Amino acid sequence: MHAPVRGRFAPSPSGRMHLGNLFSALLAWLSVRAKGGVMVLRMEDLDPDRCREEYALQLADDLRWLGLDWDEGYGAGGPHGPYRQRERTERYAGAFQALEAQGLVYPCFCTRAERLAASAPHRSDGSAVYPGTCRTLTQAEREQRARTRSPAWRLMVPDRTAGFTDGLQGSYAENLGRDCGDFILRRSDGVYAYQLAVAVDDGGMEISEVVRGRDLLDSTPRQQYLLELLGLPSPEYYHVPLLLAPDGRRLSKRERDLDMGVLRRRYTPEELTGLLAHLAGLLERSTPVRAGELVSRFDWARVRSADVIVDDTILRG
Ligand code: GLU
Repeated sequence: MHAPVRGRFAPSPSGRMHLGNLFSALLAWLSVRAKGGVMVLRMEDLDPDRCREEYALQLADDLRWLGLDWDEGYGAGGPHGPYRQRERTERYAGAFQALEAQGLVYPCFCTRAERLAASAPHRSDGSAVYPGTCRTLTQAEREQRARTRSPAWRLMVPDRTAGFTDGLQGSYAENLGRDCGDFILRRSDGVYAYQLAVAVDDGGMEISEVVRGRDLLDSTPRQQYLLELLGLPSPEYYHVPLLLAPDGRRLSKRERDLDMGVLRRRYTPEELTGLLAHLAGLLERSTPVRAGELVSRFDWARVRSADVIVDDTILRG
């Protein structure tokens, strides 16, 4: 018998969810429920400046309101806890040490300005490809610089093509060295980086299916590379379309007019689910429906892969 599919919601409690987050959450939930799998809720609250417990509580409440439940994780417990990243620091430290023991980690003393000045072309998320400036510092140079500056820590990546087949977007490949560059595992203030935490958590929580926004497509080779180095299996990935405003701008948490506070006043859970299912390509019209009613008909082949323009009537309400 196959082990059940294990999927996850992995929101960052840095504000109220918006239409785009809900869109990914609904598809993640439908995919897991249609396969009779287990849903996990993990709070990605690594960034102490942006994440707050009150947002986490609100987020859980908003998911429940929409009819999206979970079997394991935040507020529900389970065998792979804790389910808040902030409480998982020891695991990230362990993985960091394992990578260090492989000789793949080095300190980087570059300031942001230096990094930008020296960088290769920018990636789609606006981050720059790090040219490896600090990779070749001698031990003496490292010690000298460490006297005045605490370093960030980077993973050395090989000049190698890393690719995978996304369940929705098809094949994607990039060269780790050229297109991505040595990336940060731990910030200079000691906070572990998103890429490391997600790989450690998806591996440690035995996640077998990741459904998330297309903006994270190009994070996947980095996460898979980390999983490989840590001896953990890779999940399957489905990167869902982004929701865009009519001017092409991506909807974000800053679009306050579409956050859950407004959406809950404007729609019933069934109306909002119908709208999301329509935007995803699962319903011809935006008619009210409960999330549970969509499970038996769910099929990834019917989900659109291209980004979706949300028209003004929805945005303005
Ligand atoms: N925590 C990330 C976010 O809220 C998602 C990470 C992921 O799904 O891998 O954007």
